[in-house]
Amino acid sequence: MPHQWLEGNLSVSAKCTVCEKTCGSVLRLQDWQCLWCKATVHSSCKDLLPKKCPLGQCKVSVIPPTALNSIDSDGFWKASCPPSCTSPLLVFVNSKSGDNQGVKFLRRFKQLLNPAQVFDIMNGGPHLGLRLFQKFDTFRILVCGGDGSVGWVLSEIDTLNLHKQCQLGVLPLGTGNDLARVLGWGSACDDDTQLPQILEKLERAGTKMLDRWSIMVYETKLPAQLTDPCTAPEANEDCEVQQILGYEDSVAAHLSQILSSDQHSVVISSAK
Ligand SMILES: [Zn+2]
Ligand SMILES: [Zn+2]
Repeated sequence: MPHQWLEGNLSVSAKCTVCEKTCGSVLRLQDWQCLWCKATVHSSCKDLLPKKCPLGQCKVSVIPPTALNSIDSDGFWKASCPPSCTSPLLVFVNSKSGDNQGVKFLRRFKQLLNPAQVFDIMNGGPHLGLRLFQKFDTFRILVCGGDGSVGWVLSEIDTLNLHKQCQLGVLPLGTGNDLARVLGWGSACDDDTQLPQILEKLERAGTKMLDRWSIMVYETKLPAQLTDPCTAPEANEDCEVQQILGYEDSVAAHLSQILSSDQHSVVISSAK
């Protein structure tokens, strides 16, 4: 992919990539910066720079716009990654997290990566982003938000059966970040100027397997035969206590069977 040049608005400290002299001007739109690799050049030096854009510091994560071409028969984008993008990154930001800090992060990620790979989870959930990425053999996901946002993305990964091809990292925003704390990502992040370093750290990060499970709570009537012997009114209270204790014992027996058994059939029949 060639560089995509934007004229002017260079930072005051910008240096020309070709001649290494100061370039840009605060007085008018002068000289050029590439939208992707952020290289800055003088108008006169531009033709001397190699045409191919190296895509800059985040090239491992960035999906170049040329890779997201046309729409496939299922209505989603064809995603074929070029060799520079070895591990495309899908970013979900909860824009409501951390006292609306999320909005700031959303904007910054769109500047650093391809805006098409950055999604506001509050705007349609994680489904669309995951569908777009599901054609990549492997990809990484970064969720910026609290435990609720992470759980939402994990559930959607399960639904689409993508858990074998993606890894998920957490950038904790706001409160309620137990998972990020346990995994060593810290309890909260509010500095969006750190994002280039965070993306780099994420490229080097190791992975850990996590178990997920559901807890099902349901009400049930106590077995009828236990109530039969209790006919006298004064025995009612005692009888209820007995019923509860009996029920507790049976639940405890099932639990200990689940915990101590290594046979799947015993675990499954006890769980019923
Ligand atoms: Zn470039
Ligand atoms: Zn120059």
